[in-house]
Amino acid sequence: MCKNNLTLLGTEIKPGDSVCLQFDVAKLHTRNSIKVPIYVERAKKDGPVLLFLGGVHGDEINGVEIVRRIIRKKINKPSSGTIICIPVFNIFGFLHMSRKFPDGRDLNRVFPGSSKGSLASQFAHEFKKEIAPYIDYVIDFHSGGADRVNIAQTRCMLTDKKTLTLAKVFGAPFIVQSKFIKKSLRETFHDLGIAAVLFEGGKSMLYDEEAIQYGVQGAMNVMRFLKMKRWKSITENKSVIVKKSKWLRATHSGMFHVRVKNGEWITKKSILGIITDPFGEFERKIYAPFDSYIFCVNISPIVNRGDALFHVSLDTEES
Ligand SMILES: [Zn+2]
Repeated sequence: MCKNNLTLLGTEIKPGDSVCLQFDVAKLHTRNSIKVPIYVERAKKDGPVLLFLGGVHGDEINGVEIVRRIIRKKINKPSSGTIICIPVFNIFGFLHMSRKFPDGRDLNRVFPGSSKGSLASQFAHEFKKEIAPYIDYVIDFHSGGADRVNIAQTRCMLTDKKTLTLAKVFGAPFIVQSKFIKKSLRETFHDLGIAAVLFEGGKSMLYDEEAIQYGVQGAMNVMRFLKMKRWKSITENKSVIVKKSKWLRATHSGMFHVRVKNGEWITKKSILGIITDPFGEFERKIYAPFDSYIFCVNISPIVNRGDALFHVSLDTEES
């Protein structure tokens, strides 16, 4: 793709341009057209095209807030290359604080989409056709689903050196090996040769200030690494690379009390949490089966047997 001629959604973006485009794919059942704002900042000097993406899942507001702050603080104005910011990708879900599209689909499971598919699938198809081909790098900001709280972490295939380098540069406390999920946006980016790092921080429907700050800082770190901007001061963090992980699941149904801090190192046989009945008759401690880091904690007050409670590391190394 010739980056000198950058035309997005029919608008030619010249060096030095600062524009807000409207990605207009579908209407609501009320016939209201729903437009997804896309902020494009192109420097006079040529360079890579980097996308900051939030709100693929409409209830994951930390990602929306991270991209909003990137725009508000003018971090998205590069000295070389182009920064594209989409704070709320699934604006349909965001309208009523839902993970999904109005057609009930998970946008992150319908890629690369089809012009004749469901509403979500058509949206995915248009994005892949009109915007994705112009992008070189992506940071896709997410939060834990339901009541699962993710400590700030990036996810990628550790065998993909280009993406792993980006994740290391980003500098979240954890980098977690994550296979491609079929029909996900990340898989589509990979198929197009685009290096895409997925960021996870906090949980849906709740602001997590620490995760937001890691997200904004990570975006700046990546821009600096790609020589898109030189910041006066920069924070460089080491990450723990989680090469293998496992979910520890509830062995009983009941009321669930967490007894550990997310992100910490736990030693074998330490108490992770307690499951009780509501009547004062039953109480069962959950012990760590081995030494590991905890990087995601389920904070649901009620759990069912088999529910995922703690995502823990099986094999790690320092970045
Ligand atoms: Zn998500």
